[in-house]
Amino acid sequence: MMQFVSTRENSPAVALSDALLAGLAPDGGLYVPADFPEFSVEDFEGLETVPEIGARLLAPFFAGDVLEGELAAICEEALDFEIPLKDLDEDTAILELFHGPTAAFKDVGARFLASCLSRLGRGGDKPLTILVATSGDTGGAVAAAFYGKPNIEVQVLYPKGKVSARQEHQLTCWGGNVRAFAVSGVFDDCQRMVKEAFADAWWQENKRLSSANSINIGRVLPQMIYYAAASLWSFREHGVAADFVIPTGNLGNALACMWARRVGLPIGEIHLAANANRPIVDFVNGADWQVMASVQTLASAMDVGNPSNLERVRALYPAVADLRAAVTAASVDDATIEGVIRASVGMYGEVFCPHTAVAVHVREGLSGSGNRIVVATAHPAKFESIVEPLIGRGVEIPPALEALFERSTACVEIEGTLAALTAAQ
Ligand SMILES: *Cc1c(COP(=O)(O)O)cnc(C)c1O
Repeated sequence: MMQFVSTRENSPAVALSDALLAGLAPDGGLYVPADFPEFSVEDFEGLETVPEIGARLLAPFFAGDVLEGELAAICEEALDFEIPLKDLDEDTAILELFHGPTAAFKDVGARFLASCLSRLGRGGDKPLTILVATSGDTGGAVAAAFYGKPNIEVQVLYPKGKVSARQEHQLTCWGGNVRAFAVSGVFDDCQRMVKEAFADAWWQENKRLSSANSINIGRVLPQMIYYAAASLWSFREHGVAADFVIPTGNLGNALACMWARRVGLPIGEIHLAANANRPIVDFVNGADWQVMASVQTLASAMDVGNPSNLERVRALYPAVADLRAAVTAASVDDATIEGVIRASVGMYGEVFCPHTAVAVHVREGLSGSGNRIVVATAHPAKFESIVEPLIGRGVEIPPALEALFERSTACVEIEGTLAALTAAQ
């Protein structure tokens, strides 16, 4: 049976399902696999689709868990949208992770976790309650992923008036098993209310609480799947391992690539592409670790001064020298992001979102030739106010996103206290 241990090494090892239900380990650390399986390319022979490759890849991580027998079904259900690998130029391809319901790569992790938790919610006398505090984007992906799932109810808390109109729409357009609360206050109030609920007697007695935040290992493991699939497709075509260039904020996406390489997938170099938030870049390039307050950039989903998954990266490479040998990292400023978005229309015939543009620029700076894959994390239509003025035309909204904007919305306005949330139950 695969066990999961805390990065802080002060919690008991647990089965996968327990790690999924808990989110954070009791010692405040993040769950990681106690050990890693070893694969070779041949282990995936005959497997072509993302769900097939995913089921083979994650089988050792699900071994002995109550969800073991459902892994294939979970992969099929969660990964039911396209993840194309498209050629960009002669030695670079782009892995488009934005064809899911909210047009960003977080759909992969959120949908996989939803499929797992909905199965773990079966058989109780009440549904699992997922409480999420969001400053905008994550809440939308989580709401979309859990909408309509049996045995689950979702309550999304967001700061009233402090998210964009499109973001608010994505939080409030669900109904059914998803309720949205517009909280008088700021994001930190929402987060505090969620934390208080977990410690509150009434909530413990009346709800089965669980969390879906980005540090849940159920969001990282499935992200390995697209690295496995893309590296295998590419290896079968070119006969060499692919290097990946990854837009990086909290390091969850990049960590999944490191784990995929660790288990034996044909992955060569890993290049972290950060915006002006550069602690990880400086650290990889030799400076001491230093947390910074985050600065606002055009690639806003990567505005992170203290990446939460660094703990997992450090657990994978306990010696700093090994981490520095394992990846490269570069920082890209806003002016360069704008330049890349503008130039790429002519150069590649592509419109990139600001996050993807960061990685495209880092790719362009790599010397020599190779088999390179740039990871595209969001559809440009999600960032139309940045992208459209730069390219001088509109960006077509993908059908999935368009469908969301056509749904009607509803939310409940509450004060920023747990008592107000409890009264609304
Ligand atoms: C969250 C996000 C990122 C950063 O991913 P991490 O896993 O936090 O490093 C990059 N691009 C987009 C569009 C995102 O939503």
